[in-house]
Amino acid sequence: AQLDTLDLVVLAVLLLGTIAYFTKGTYWAVAKDPYGDSLAHTNGAAKKGKSRNIIEKLGESGKNCVVFYGSQTGTAEDYASRLAKEGHSRFGLQTMVADLEDYDYENLDTFPSDKVAFFVLATYGEGEPTDNAVDFYEFIHAEEPSFSGEGDGEKPLSNFKFVAFGLGNNTYEHYNSMVRNVNKAFEALGATRIGAAGEGDDGAGTMEEDFLAWKEPMWAALAESMGLEEREAVYEPVFDVVERPDMDPEEDQVYLGEPNKNHLEGTSKGPYNANNPYIAPIAESREIFTAKDRNCLHMEIDLSGSNLSYTTGDHVAVWPTNAGKEVDRFLNITGLAPKRHTVISVKGLDPTAKVPFPSPTTYDAAVRYHMEICAPVSRQFVSTIAQFAPNDEIKAEMTKIGNDKEYFHETVIERSLNIAQLLEIMSNGEPWSKVPFSLFIEGIHKIQPRYYSISSSSLVQKDKVSVTAVVESTHKPNAPHIVKGVTTNYLLALKQKQHGDPDPDPHGLNYALDGPRNKYDGIHVPVHVRHSNFKLPSDPSKPIIMVGPGTGVAPFRGFVQERAAQARAGEKVGKTVLFFGCRRRTEDFLYEKDWEQWKQDLGDSFELHTAFSREGPNKVYVQHKLQENAKEINELLQQKAYFYVCGDASNMAREVNSLLAKIIAEQRGLPESKGEDIVKAMRAANQYQEDVW
Ligand code: FAD
Repeated sequence: AQLDTLDLVVLAVLLLGTIAYFTKGTYWAVAKDPYGDSLAHTNGAAKKGKSRNIIEKLGESGKNCVVFYGSQTGTAEDYASRLAKEGHSRFGLQTMVADLEDYDYENLDTFPSDKVAFFVLATYGEGEPTDNAVDFYEFIHAEEPSFSGEGDGEKPLSNFKFVAFGLGNNTYEHYNSMVRNVNKAFEALGATRIGAAGEGDDGAGTMEEDFLAWKEPMWAALAESMGLEEREAVYEPVFDVVERPDMDPEEDQVYLGEPNKNHLEGTSKGPYNANNPYIAPIAESREIFTAKDRNCLHMEIDLSGSNLSYTTGDHVAVWPTNAGKEVDRFLNITGLAPKRHTVISVKGLDPTAKVPFPSPTTYDAAVRYHMEICAPVSRQFVSTIAQFAPNDEIKAEMTKIGNDKEYFHETVIERSLNIAQLLEIMSNGEPWSKVPFSLFIEGIHKIQPRYYSISSSSLVQKDKVSVTAVVESTHKPNAPHIVKGVTTNYLLALKQKQHGDPDPDPHGLNYALDGPRNKYDGIHVPVHVRHSNFKLPSDPSKPIIMVGPGTGVAPFRGFVQERAAQARAGEKVGKTVLFFGCRRRTEDFLYEKDWEQWKQDLGDSFELHTAFSREGPNKVYVQHKLQENAKEINELLQQKAYFYVCGDASNMAREVNSLLAKIIAEQRGLPESKGEDIVKAMRAANQYQEDVW
């Protein structure tokens, strides 16, 4: 019989699917990741084409320990690198670091018993895995994970040894649920955990100390289990940094801050994502606080032409640039300033080491665009860098700070010092020229995009996202400096430039606003969009209750804007109740005019309850307003209203959660525990949603 066109199409699709299945990862891993692509020039692992088989990978590279990470903001990844380095330098383990998303897990049942796998797992949002851990998590939580069946143990993972550390935040209900659930799943599958399953708590601000306290007994247990001998740790660089006096920084192949090869070649193209930002024009920017001493920015970022799309409630990620002042400080104190524009090639000395930025580049570009130089310093990094101090006296003092938790807190944390500030103070300005640049690449996080809850409605402005950002500027009593937030001050400088300030320089920070090779000229900012589950009900006639003090109101501006447009279009829109709080009506009442305008469209279905904490004799917060409106809230919930909370995760969101349980219990004459159960059930049914940070 002859094949008709449809048959041919079906066959072709089947064939492609089959090829794709059998080559999973081998051919397309590099292509799907333009950042990985750009790194292919410098990274041995990428050059060979990636295998998704971890056992094969360990065998090929002569390793006996893999440290997997599930990371969202980079901290888990950083801890994973630190564990891998320490395992090698102290115990002679042959370690590699691995992104959970880069491997398959079907063959864990044949994982050799003389090797070990570490899992450093952040818990994200409401107990969810980080984006890169989703597949792994789903695999091991399947009712019967589909292992190869070639293992020889009683249970599938009888021979599998693992170590586990979790990064969580106790202000969230599902505290450290990733590490807890993974640990449980592994144990049920017969695996053996070595040491305790560690838990770090960001909520209590003790993450780093929890990590340091956990790892010592873990190393002891691991040394015993694998028969390892501890040795004198000597620093071994992870990266080979070669200066290239033969190259001119203006040469076409030198990265001057371009995030990947597409951008370098000047043909930046989509898809734009967490590895490939879109250089977006800022269509409009304005100050929305009336207070003199604080800033809040409203920015409209134009996505048209990028193929990026969003829906109301999503997040936009802004890729920051470090302030010139801090870049200079760093390059001066490390003695690199005179050769800041020297071209360098950076390579992993081991094929499994990933260089966190594209190369060849320059010291200036690496520090300005890729390294989180302004962040707080870790105690472990202080210990490691001590050996490269300019003299023995400074070395002794740094060692002391690194070893003594309280002293570290007093001298570094309470003074809000970043690494360059610490080095400056310790050496009295004398350059730390002996520190290998590799150590900075290893010890300083890769700069992270910052997320912002989009404050516009995709129904009203499909191609333009708005951001509502408070400019971070904090001064702790014992700190010699005011700490300026990296991204928000960069955005502030962009806003000032847009408003005609010829030399925008908020607080002398001096950002390179034109970007690498002037590619961001004309008020542009690199961004990508991240989709979220924080969503309006699909049926606009459903009532909604929103609690969003401060910048927590951002997504609700989008929500109300959307419902006002639906009302204008004649749709039936349900009750739309917003609780907003700030200091004073005259200082920081965000979007006062917008609410008035949308009230015209929504009429009585829109209710705005405001709490001004510094206007009267007593502080009034959104919590008070919720209590005052308890009856109405309960009635709306009984009509299946959706309840949304956005903003401060540490106090407000938790208090609103317990207050709502209390309100429900009181109003319905139930015991408080019942109220809590109802809120839990609402969360499970997505009727209670949080967007908190
Ligand atoms: P960073 O440089 O990241 O600094 C942040 C804070 O850390 C500073 O305030 C400072 O106190 C402290 N810090 C920094 N360095 C040091 C140091 N060396 N020592 C001691 N302390 C230090 N923000 C908004 O304004 N609006 C939003 O709509 C919004 N939505 C968000 C949505 C999500 C999902 C998430 C995760 C966050 C959201 N944020 C929002 C927060 C935002 O992402 C940023 O964290 C915030 O703007 C600060 O970024 P920054 O780079 O300016 O500050």
